[in-house]
Amino acid sequence: MIPWRKWGRGCVELIFPFRCSFCQIAFTRKGQAICADCLSRIHYLQSPLCSCCGRELPDSSGADHLCGSCLRQPPVYSRARAVVRYEAPVSHLLHRLKYAADTRTLPVLAAVIEPFVFASLHDFQPESDRIVPVPLFPARLKKRGLNQSLLLARIFFPEAGESLLVDALIRTRNTPPQTTLDGADRRKNLRAAFAVRYPEAVCGRRIFLVDDVLTTGTTVAECSKALLAAGAVEICIVTVARVAEYQ
Ligand SMILES: [Zn+2]
Ligand SMILES: [Zn+2]
Repeated sequence: MIPWRKWGRGCVELIFPFRCSFCQIAFTRKGQAICADCLSRIHYLQSPLCSCCGRELPDSSGADHLCGSCLRQPPVYSRARAVVRYEAPVSHLLHRLKYAADTRTLPVLAAVIEPFVFASLHDFQPESDRIVPVPLFPARLKKRGLNQSLLLARIFFPEAGESLLVDALIRTRNTPPQTTLDGADRRKNLRAAFAVRYPEAVCGRRIFLVDDVLTTGTTVAECSKALLAAGAVEICIVTVARVAEYQ
């Protein structure tokens, strides 16, 4: 780099230092989106995890294994993995992205997700696997201005290319938000709410289904059922966060 340019950039950084994208108070080192303090508050999910649903297991030693719940009643998907526990600061970033269409959160979320991509998605095969974001009903998509799951899918799978199926899975009903319901009502609310528009795109494929948060798992289970009915062979769930009560 030309020295005067380097000098000029140094001056700009002195006048406008990098602020933490979350707390907006602390300064960060060049190229880092979150300050060390906020970064230390992020709870990354680590083994031992349930080898199916991905919940953290209470015994701190030993390898991943099936949890009691998955042993009793195996989910329709084969594997669910989340990057972090659904807590601040990541929960705030996801909220800002989802409800305020704040796309400035995307590079910050990408920084949070990046280590997970290398560690947990290495078995993704772009030639044969397919990526499907959890869809929004068109009216809600129009109101929100973006589908957070699609934007997150692009972060999880930067090399996705044509294996990312933007509209193969659709929402057929404008259901009330799941956050307003619980238990059986969540299941009833989403029953037959999803359909596969292009079955030939998912038939015979392993699907990586992307959502922002795994709460009770009802949404991803309903999406999985529609994808399996259309001929998908296996469903792997990928989310940024997982709700702690559902551990
Ligand atoms: Zn901070
Ligand atoms: Zn489990």
